[in-house]
Amino acid sequence: MKRHSRSGRFYGALAGAVVVALTAGGCGADGGSGTGTAATASPSAPSDGTTGTPGTAAPSADTAALWKKWGLTPLPETPEPPADKPLKLSATGPVPVFSHIPTSQKVVFITIDDGAEKDPEFIEMMRDLEIPITMFLTDDSIKSDYGYFRTLAEMGHHIQNHTLHHPVMNTLSEAGQKEEVCGNQKVLTERYGTAPLLFRPPYGAYDHNTRTAVRECGPAAIVWWRESMQIKNMQYQDPDKKLRPGDIILAHFRGPQELKGTTMTEMFAQLLRRIQEQDFTVARLEDYIQPPAG
Ligand SMILES: [Zn+2]
Repeated sequence: MKRHSRSGRFYGALAGAVVVALTAGGCGADGGSGTGTAATASPSAPSDGTTGTPGTAAPSADTAALWKKWGLTPLPETPEPPADKPLKLSATGPVPVFSHIPTSQKVVFITIDDGAEKDPEFIEMMRDLEIPITMFLTDDSIKSDYGYFRTLAEMGHHIQNHTLHHPVMNTLSEAGQKEEVCGNQKVLTERYGTAPLLFRPPYGAYDHNTRTAVRECGPAAIVWWRESMQIKNMQYQDPDKKLRPGDIILAHFRGPQELKGTTMTEMFAQLLRRIQEQDFTVARLEDYIQPPAG
């Protein structure tokens, strides 16, 4: 628990260095976020309609009741993901680093890290709301209860790699980094039956050796983020504090001890409100990524 309460400070200390790393690596290209096609959906439309799916119904009374239980009104339905995946991963070469998906759909992607908090109510909430999430899990945080995350995986949420022990990767040797990524890849594959496609370095900190280790251990990309959910609000990387189509949002499995008394479900409800206020909805990250062939 203590480790997690400290991590917020780590973010602050490391954020500057990491942004530099992204820029220096040529990985943080933002070309997709300024496209003029982003505002095609009318704010109150039940679907953003960009895929041409006709007749998307307004949320049913049942859906509305399930959302109301959590103090929420339904987000627009998730649009059909593009058949031609906007992010194509390769099996060779340096793994790419990305913090958003190039798309004009008014969707964002929620990623939830570590796995320390295992609130049963959050599972109930996910059943009720059917909002897709991607989990970047650390073995140290999840090994007390692998089953909790299996329940979420069985609901269709993907599990991705976030190291065995949550170190600051670029302070480790190449061998040490490889142990962290390959070790966790093995655990997650054995426990959940699917080899993770994606890797996120703790605190966002990585270097050249991290990219080598990730490639050798199996994941085909490093996932960064554009916004970070705190207790009630998001921290934005951009000074205008606006979501953009395809943004990846970072959140954590945290509970009242780390969130000053706020529960995981309250934090998640706040996150959905922040997304709703900006007329976005939530899509599944893996639906926009084409894994390497073969
Ligand atoms: Zn983490």
